[in-house]
Amino acid sequence: MRIIDLRSDTVTVPTKEMRLAMAEAEVGDDVYGEDPTVNRLQEVAAELVGKEAALFLPSGTMANQVAILTHTERGQEVILDEESHIYYYEVGSPAMLGGVQLKPVAGLLSERGPEVLRQAFRPPDIHFPPTSLVCLENTFNRGGGVVISQGIMKEIYELAKDRNLTVHLDGARIFNASVAAGCNVREFTRFCDSVMFSLSKGLGAPVGSILAGSRDFIERAKRYRKALGGGWRQAGILAAAGLVALQNISRLAEDHANARRLAEELVGLPQLLVDLSKVQTNIVVVEVKGQWTAAEFAQKLYFKGVRCSVMGPNTVRFVTHKDVSREDIELVISIVKQIFVP
Ligand SMILES: *Cc1c(COP(=O)(O)O)cnc(C)c1O
Repeated sequence: MRIIDLRSDTVTVPTKEMRLAMAEAEVGDDVYGEDPTVNRLQEVAAELVGKEAALFLPSGTMANQVAILTHTERGQEVILDEESHIYYYEVGSPAMLGGVQLKPVAGLLSERGPEVLRQAFRPPDIHFPPTSLVCLENTFNRGGGVVISQGIMKEIYELAKDRNLTVHLDGARIFNASVAAGCNVREFTRFCDSVMFSLSKGLGAPVGSILAGSRDFIERAKRYRKALGGGWRQAGILAAAGLVALQNISRLAEDHANARRLAEELVGLPQLLVDLSKVQTNIVVVEVKGQWTAAEFAQKLYFKGVRCSVMGPNTVRFVTHKDVSREDIELVISIVKQIFVP
């Protein structure tokens, strides 16, 4: 049975071209700054997102946490969306590692984001933790992969700057945003001080994320990466795959078209609810109505070879990626229909 895995774009496996590049990568000890392939990836990545410097890290979570550690001091406050990855899925690390207090707010990653941020600000007062950082996320994962517009990012960035706050962008899928918006990724990254993006999601590298920002920020970030155990040695083997992955940016449009196709078919089924306005990139969030819970629906698909993830009691998530073809999507559509009308 063909297994079609739509749980996440992290399940993508390296292409033959990547494996060849990995096999042939020129390497050195990256803790000494001597891995030429890592250095090249960092230069190419910094240039791509319009920042002075970049750092290659093992995961997006580590990159986000290194950014928070570098931008903040103990006892400070970080404002972010209550559905953001950093708040929801990163194991409480800002408290565990950095001693910072997160202030989760509803709606920061929405059209009313700037107003939400204005409301979240507090005046200086001995009772309040000083706020030092705002974290954004684009595309917004738990928001259904929606694109946070340049206009919203700009307004939030300017509000933050008025108060001398730093802005970090969790851009795990920032290239999905730029491809969907049809613009250069810098149109988003210009409105943040630092940005993290994943090489290991839709771009298809086996491992790795990039953190980019000013030269000074990256110099300081390197110490925190080392402290967290992320100082690696001949990482050029992985960076080589990362460089090939960066050539996969424009093909993300195919994933978006596949997600759209899936959503447009599922929306016609009375047992499912899909908000098509939120299907903007490679994520389709589906609400399962009536008859079955999300877990039961996911299990029925599982037995027919289709994997999706359960996001809540009544919601499942499908994520399209390079290892899922249009034919696979057509097959998923017919399998879902069969489940409801056997
Ligand atoms: C996947 C993801 C991360 C974390 O990346 P890992 O490499 O899995 O640690 C961070 N933020 C967002 C929005 C993500 O989707």
